[in-house]
Amino acid sequence: MRAEIFTIGDELCRGEIVDTNSSWMADRLWEMGVTVHWMTSCRDVREDMIRAFREAAERADLILVSGGLGPTEDDLTVDVVCEIVGAEAVTHEPSLLRMKDRFERAGYQLTPNNLRQVRVPASARALMNPAGQAPGFEVALGQATMFVMPGVPREMQAIFDAYVVERVTALAASSEKIRKRVYRVFGKGESHIDHALAGLGGADATLHYQVAFPETLVKVVVRDRDAAAAEARLAELDREVRARLGIMIYGEGKDSLATVLGRALAAAGRTLAVAESCTGGMLGSLITDVPGSSRYFVGGYIVYADEAKRRELGVRADTLARLGAVSRECVEEMAAGARARAGADFAAAISGIAGPDGGTPDKPVGTVHIAVMGPGGTAHKQMLFPGARDQIRRLACYWAMALLLREVGAS
Ligand code: ATP
Ligand code: MG
Repeated sequence: MRAEIFTIGDELCRGEIVDTNSSWMADRLWEMGVTVHWMTSCRDVREDMIRAFREAAERADLILVSGGLGPTEDDLTVDVVCEIVGAEAVTHEPSLLRMKDRFERAGYQLTPNNLRQVRVPASARALMNPAGQAPGFEVALGQATMFVMPGVPREMQAIFDAYVVERVTALAASSEKIRKRVYRVFGKGESHIDHALAGLGGADATLHYQVAFPETLVKVVVRDRDAAAAEARLAELDREVRARLGIMIYGEGKDSLATVLGRALAAAGRTLAVAESCTGGMLGSLITDVPGSSRYFVGGYIVYADEAKRRELGVRADTLARLGAVSRECVEEMAAGARARAGADFAAAISGIAGPDGGTPDKPVGTVHIAVMGPGGTAHKQMLFPGARDQIRRLACYWAMALLLREVGAS
């Protein structure tokens, strides 16, 4: 089933408002396994609207429309749809009754243009608006099924949830089935992942990549007339994707590294503390973004100056003098200090040169040391991250979480 989203409004085309209706509807359709092939927007201009409706009817099986159902002269959608489907506009009595009732109670006078708002094409099925006055409607446009909704996002969403979901699900059931899985991958770049997955997929299955820095989302989409066959193919691809990407896949769907780490710590009944230099609290912030993180997160130390590393965490003066704050020894001592002083099972420590200044030939900008200490011992990683300050700091935090996840899993 090929879907099209069509949003109508001068304000959209002038850039005065962002077309959030399109992305909201596209997201919901995608969740329902329906592919949106086109998104169109046009002004509140009769000729432009007619043309866009005709083009949509030619290429799409399902058309979702928002906008132009209001009471004013510039709201043309009902009249234009009537014109192209060859129907009269008729009053939707239940909507009119409800409107009269509301106006009466509020003490407002009904004006003729209010009546414009409760009309639908005679050949359409009206869809009561749970959040406003103007009803939406479902109407056949050529081969396509079309749902027309108001532009106000709250009203569009209310009608979508009340009627459209069920109808689209039924329509989709008689067409091709889509099954999909989203893998969350961290540790290698998009091109490396693409290379690792080369040759997977085919006519019935496609792979898509989306960078959500510093992660990559890998989406596998399978199409088949038969739902069971689609499931089986997805399961087969799942085994292959996991075999090829291994531990780079840390989660699925809406997981984040922080939530997955939190689940692992909670499941193991372990606690965590952090010690941060160049990330200045970002790691603690990411970890505590997760609701319920108090179950496993004890606290953190932001030890930016050498003196703070010594005083707060007991890093040895000799280590700092001899090897510097950006060194394996320093992060290991930071982790040991944080773990002991916070009384946590695990501790992660980060120290690095986030730039743009402060790099030297043997410790260039992007050099970061990470140590993770737990009941099973200490893991250390020295990295040279590319990018600007914020990217280096984010990468450091994500690598610390990835290392932690590994250590917690192994413990
Ligand atoms: P109204 O009864 O308010 O006139 P309507 O169905 O005629 O409703 P529009 O006039 O097109 O809808 O839009 C009403 C308001 O809804 C806009 O001013 C805007 O704030 C919002 N809106 C409309 N279309 C969109 C869209 N595609 N994305 C996000 N917001 C939108
Ligand atoms: Mg309007």
